[in-house]
Amino acid sequence: MDTQVQGMSVIVTGGSSGIGLETARLFLREGARVAICGRDAQRLAAAEADLGAPPDRLIACQCDVLATDQVAAFAGRVRDSFGGVDVLVNNAGQGRVATFAETDDDAWREEYELKLFSVILPTRALLPMLEQSDRAAIVCVNALLARQPEPHMVATSSARAGALSMAHSMARELAPKGIRVNSVLLGLIESGQWRRRHAEQAAPGETFEDWCRALAVSKGIPAGRLGTPEEAARAIFFLASPLASYITGAALDVSGGVSRHV
Ligand code: NDP
Repeated sequence: MDTQVQGMSVIVTGGSSGIGLETARLFLREGARVAICGRDAQRLAAAEADLGAPPDRLIACQCDVLATDQVAAFAGRVRDSFGGVDVLVNNAGQGRVATFAETDDDAWREEYELKLFSVILPTRALLPMLEQSDRAAIVCVNALLARQPEPHMVATSSARAGALSMAHSMARELAPKGIRVNSVLLGLIESGQWRRRHAEQAAPGETFEDWCRALAVSKGIPAGRLGTPEEAARAIFFLASPLASYITGAALDVSGGVSRHV
């Protein structure tokens, strides 16, 4: 099947690890040009080497999506190298495991800043280029927590709901300009953040695979396992591609059946 992304210019924030990295890989494989960013230079360089695409097809730029000047510099580099942008995947971020009692004011502010401004700043910086595209799309990587909050991730759940609401409003505002805006609502996906939690929490000798299997059981995931970054990437790819040309304002559940909503 022709996925219709050949030659498109795609930005994936947080493309140096996990879901973002697999999304970048998929777009490159299908013939797009891809720009990724992340804060850690070493992780970014490793991702660039792993993706292995030539410089005219791959940009890896150190950029904190919460720093307006760095986002502007990243956008400028993409404009100079690729000449424009067709797709923005707002993926950068991570979750915060903490109950209400454990979350202080600074943590609340940090979480809201991360979940909202990681979308606001790149979207604002790239809008002028997206408006010039005839295949423009924004995909916001969100979590099922936006609809199904978990008390042990109180701030993340709450901020995710705000980000979902914002994406929906953006979809309506930007549709007349030909820019589609959709969200993916992820359940538990094996990725960098889960590998870090495994390193902190696993019993001695417990492999990542065994730990994930036990996690899937304890979380009651109907599919019986965590999702893979590739599975999340395919959902992001679909919504970002022209294959989803009449879909905007949608939220695609990628949770292995965890959602309890009709
Ligand atoms: P990873 O930790 O594997 O990847 C996160 C990526 O985001 C890294 O490239 C990281 O690079 C980058 N990043 C984080 N903060 C910033 C920042 N301020 N500026 C630029 N880049 C940043 O995690 P995942 O692949 O699992 O997560 C991808 C997205 O999916 C995140 O938004 C996450 O919250 C969301 N998600 C994931 C779920 C899961 O189960 N895995 C569930 C629900 C949502 P660096 O640290 O070097 O900046």
